[in-house]
Amino acid sequence: MWLVYRASDGRTIQQPWQDIQDVGTLIDPDSGEDRAMLGWTATAPQQCSGCDTEVSLDPESGSYAHLDEAGNPDRWIDRGHYAEPRT
Ligand SMILES: [Zn+2]
Repeated sequence: MWLVYRASDGRTIQQPWQDIQDVGTLIDPDSGEDRAMLGWTATAPQQCSGCDTEVSLDPESGSYAHLDEAGNPDRWIDRGHYAEPRT
């Protein structure tokens, strides 16, 4: 099960519920505020078919982006391939 949050840029971020015990709920690194929690899902986050990193659809660009540990897009890291969700 994953908790689902809304990022300030409109994307959704998933956190494994087991993480709550160790790190608590997610905080927005920009504002330092708790992220708005939307609910939970049993659907696993999408993994990149090229590197197994978690990917998320970026509503701004309409394309997928790799996510860093905090759930933010890391478009600036050159992985040698585009983020493509495993199907
Ligand atoms: Zn990848």
